[in-house]
Amino acid sequence: MMSEENKYCSRCGKLISTPEGDYFSHIKILYCDECRKEVEREQTRQRVAELKKRKKKKDQFRDEELEQLRVLTEQLKEEVELLRESNQAMREENGLLRSQNQSLKEENGLLKEENRLLRIRMQQLTTEINTSGTITQIRRRMK
Ligand SMILES: [Zn+2]
Repeated sequence: MMSEENKYCSRCGKLISTPEGDYFSHIKILYCDECRKEVEREQTRQRVAELKKRKKKKDQFRDEELEQLRVLTEQLKEEVELLRESNQAMREENGLLRSQNQSLKEENGLLKEENRLLRIRMQQLTTEINTSGTITQIRRRMK
């Protein structure tokens, strides 16, 4: 069995334990004190490097997200600007239609007035026809 053999440091090869000592520490031991400290330092360095790498990735991800948000904000600003312009154009068109409508109303009023006057004239002529006989007579009179 392995546990019954002498054990040597996995790093420097120094004898570190014999089967006569404590069974569990004999099983467990891998390095001499010096190498164990060095290995622990190395593991700590690796963990720190790993953490730094993860932090860098996280920061990069955050930066990308910020950049996407910046682009999105820029697009939204452009969209707002386009909507504002479109709104302005519609407002102007609305103004034109309103003034066109106003002109048509005024024209309509004039035509109504003209129509009213023509009706009055027609009524006068009808009355004249009724009072003075035939159309021939009226034609003669109108000359
Ligand atoms: Zn060693």
